[in-house]
Amino acid sequence: MSDVIRLLPDSLANQIAAGEVVQRPASVVKELLENSIDAGSTSITVIIKEAGKTLIKVIDNGHGMTETDARMSFERHATSKIRASEDLFKINTMGFRGEALASIAAVSQLELVTKTKERELGTAVAIEGSEFKKQEPEATNEGTSISVKNLFFNVPARRNFLKSNPVEMKHIIEEFQRVALSHPEIEFSLFQNDLETFNLPKGKLSQRIVRIFGKNYKEQLAACEEDTPHIKVHGYIGKPEFAKKTRGEQYFFVNKRFIKNNYLNHAVYNAYEGLIPDGSYPFYVLFIEIDPKSIDINVHPTKTEIKFEDERTVYGIVRAAVKQALGTHNLSPSIDFDHDVNFNLGPDRSKGEGLNLQDRDYAQFKNNPADKANKENWEKLFEGLEGPKDSDVGNFSLTFESAANQIDPKELSSKEFSSGDKYKAAFQIHNTYIGKQVKSGMMFIDQQAAHERILFEKYLTHLENRNGASQQSLFPQTIDLNISDFALVMELKEEIESLGFVFEIFGKNSVVIHGVPADIAHGNEKELFDGLLEQFKENKSELSIPTKENLARSIAKRSAIKPGNALSVEEMNTMIDQLFGCENPNYSPGGQLIYYILDLYKIASFFGK
Ligand code: ADP
Ligand code: MG
Repeated sequence: MSDVIRLLPDSLANQIAAGEVVQRPASVVKELLENSIDAGSTSITVIIKEAGKTLIKVIDNGHGMTETDARMSFERHATSKIRASEDLFKINTMGFRGEALASIAAVSQLELVTKTKERELGTAVAIEGSEFKKQEPEATNEGTSISVKNLFFNVPARRNFLKSNPVEMKHIIEEFQRVALSHPEIEFSLFQNDLETFNLPKGKLSQRIVRIFGKNYKEQLAACEEDTPHIKVHGYIGKPEFAKKTRGEQYFFVNKRFIKNNYLNHAVYNAYEGLIPDGSYPFYVLFIEIDPKSIDINVHPTKTEIKFEDERTVYGIVRAAVKQALGTHNLSPSIDFDHDVNFNLGPDRSKGEGLNLQDRDYAQFKNNPADKANKENWEKLFEGLEGPKDSDVGNFSLTFESAANQIDPKELSSKEFSSGDKYKAAFQIHNTYIGKQVKSGMMFIDQQAAHERILFEKYLTHLENRNGASQQSLFPQTIDLNISDFALVMELKEEIESLGFVFEIFGKNSVVIHGVPADIAHGNEKELFDGLLEQFKENKSELSIPTKENLARSIAKRSAIKPGNALSVEEMNTMIDQLFGCENPNYSPGGQLIYYILDLYKIASFFGK
C-alpha cells in the first residue's frame, strides 16, 4: 500500500476552522468589531444587508495595517497580538488566535481596505473562499474597512442552514449590543439595509445603556461599584421593582469581554433575594476587572465561556457589590426586613401577583400525584353520587374563557345552569383553589394551573389548525418594540396571527394591534402582547420546546386567571368540565399538579375513625 496521509490544502483547513469560528453572520460581526476595537478605533460603523447574508461591512478609524500585514492577516494563526506562549496568560485584547480573518475569508467574498497613519496611500485586498484575488493601492482614510459579501457562498449546506432574516438579524443585534455596551467610549452606528437603527455617540456607560435599552431605563439604574485588590466590579443594576419576567437583559463582562456564567448570575440573584418575586430577573450590566493571569478564556472558540482560578471569591465579591448597590440606593428595606419584605417592593397581592403556588406546601401533593384522568374518568369520579349527571353537563355552553379576565356576573347568571348535586358542591377556597366533592372524597383544584392547561390545549389546537378566532379592538393600539423584540415578532408573525392576533407593522419598530384572540378580555392588548413576547423569550431561554408549544404555553400562562380572582359557581363548574375535557388534566403545561383528591378514608382518619 502506498502512503495515503496528506496535508489538507490551506483553503480546506480554513474552511474547517471556519466551522467553529463562523457559525452565522452574527459571528462575523463580533469578530470584525473586536478587531476594530483592538486596533484602537474611536468610531465604528456596521453596515448590514439582508441580515448579513449578502453584506457585512465594518468600517473603523483604528491604526490600520501596512500592505504586508493586510496580506498576512488572512493567514491562519496570523496575529499581531501574541508572540509567545507566555503572552497567552496576559491577554488584554479581544482577539488573539489569529483565526478570525482566515476563517471568514474562507467562506465569503471579502474585501479589505486599510491605511496606517504613516502611509500616504492605503491598500485594498480581495479574497474569495481563501483564494487571493488581488491587492492594489487605494486612496482611503486611516483605519480599516472590511466587507464580507455572500457569506457561505461556497458552502451551500451552511448557507441553507441559516435562519430567516429576522432571526439572523436578532443575533447580529445581540452581538452588536454586547460590544457597544462594553465600550461606551467608542462611537458606534449600525445600518440595516441603509436604515440607521443604532446611533451611539461616545459617552458614559449609563448613557450608553439608556441609548440602547430606552429612556425609561434612566430611573431604573443603580450604580454598582466594588474595589478589592484583586478584582474590581462596576456597572449598573436595575432596581428591584423593574425586574422582568425574562432573562434577556443581563450582561457580564470580564475584562470587557462578554461572558456567560450561571454561577455569577446566581451571585446576583442571591443579592436580590427577597426583593423580587420568584421567576423574575433583574437587569444588570456588570463589568469585572481581574488579572488576566487568573482567568482562562481559551476554553471555547467563540470565547463566551470563561474559567476563574478562584470562582468562589469572584462570586462573593459580585454578590457583595450588588448588595451594596441595592443598599446604598435605599432599595432594600433595612429595618425589620424579615417581617415585611413586601412594603413598596414586593408584588402587589391585590393583583394576585406573588402568590407562588409551587412554593406552598405542595410537597405532600407532589408525593401523591393523581392518576391520569380524562373526561371518562372524570365522570367516574361522580359515580355513586346522587343527582343528575350528563344531562346537566350539556346544559351550558363553555363560556368560561371569555370571562376569564373580566368576570361579568350578570352575563353568567343569565345562563341557565344545572342545579344538580354534581355542580352545587363546587366552592372556592381563598380565591385560589376550587373544592369539589367527588366519589372518593374531596377534590382540590388549583384554579390557575387548571386554566393554564385549558388555554394551552386550546391555543395549541389553534396554532396547529391556524384557526384562532379574533375579536376586533375598538381602539387599535400601537406598541413600540425594541429592535430585537421587533425581529422576534417578525419571525413569529404567522404563529402569532394563528393565535388570533391581528396586527400590522407600523414604522420602524412598532406594530399596531387591531385584534386579539377572541377569548381574551378587551382593553389589555398591549399588556397581553408584551406579556406574550416576554414569556416566549423566557421559555425559550430555559426550555427547549417547539415554537408552537412555547407560544401556546406563553399565552396560556399570561392570560390564565390568577390566584385572588373570585369565581362564580358556574365558572368553577365550567372550568372543571373543560379541565377534564383536556388531554392531560393532571398537570399544567409547566408540570405543576392541577388537582388533588383527599381520600374519604384519609378524612375519616383525621377524626380517628
Ligand atoms: P486576532 O484578532 O485573533 O489576532 P484575526 O484573524 O481577527 O486574529 O486578525 C488577524 C490580524 O489582523 C490581527 O492580529 C490584526 O493585526 C489585524 N487586523 C484585523 N482587523 C484589523 C483592523 N480592523 N484594524 C487593524 N488591524 C486589524
Ligand atoms: Mg480578531
